[in-house]
Amino acid sequence: MKFSLQFLFHCVKIINMWNITSVVRKGFYMEQVLLLNSDEEPLHLTSWRRALVLLLKGKAECVEKIENIENYIKIDNTLIPKVIILKDYRAIPHTELPYSRENIFKRDEYTCQYCGKHLPGNELTLDHVYPKSRLGPDTWENIVACCKECNQYKADRTPKEAGMKLLRRPSRPLDGKLFELTKNSSKNIEYWIKYYKTA
Ligand SMILES: [Zn+2]
Repeated sequence: MKFSLQFLFHCVKIINMWNITSVVRKGFYMEQVLLLNSDEEPLHLTSWRRALVLLLKGKAECVEKIENIENYIKIDNTLIPKVIILKDYRAIPHTELPYSRENIFKRDEYTCQYCGKHLPGNELTLDHVYPKSRLGPDTWENIVACCKECNQYKADRTPKEAGMKLLRRPSRPLDGKLFELTKNSSKNIEYWIKYYKTA
């Protein structure tokens, strides 16, 4: 791509001038870059250092013009693109979004699905809507975030038996990749989302 030479100059500069302590101190080690497959499908977020390696090895290119500063992360005096694209297509096997405690909490926005209380993860529990003791399955559709009080009160009953009402019907997130992106707390999510919408 026509911007890569100019970018390479910046990359070389950062390797020469790299002051790791300053990078760590400023929190840049956390900065991430969105990696697109060669067909522009978003793959995942990667560290800026990994992105730099892909660019230097010629395996990836910048996507956006370097003149537009908002398209880049500034690390010390160097610009790292917020999005890079692989030159060669990488076949990725389709994987289902894993069911996990963290993912359930994120889907339910850290909110008890019975009383609506918003809580940190360590104060939430997982509730089997149809009770586990009655062979309720471990699935996206049967598990919700629940505060300790509601979980204790509901116990081994269905919501109907307990006279409780779910805020919404639990389901698997429709777009697993977008879900993975938005559960990341990076400040660049708003910037990256457009690549998912056009995918
Ligand atoms: Zn509750």
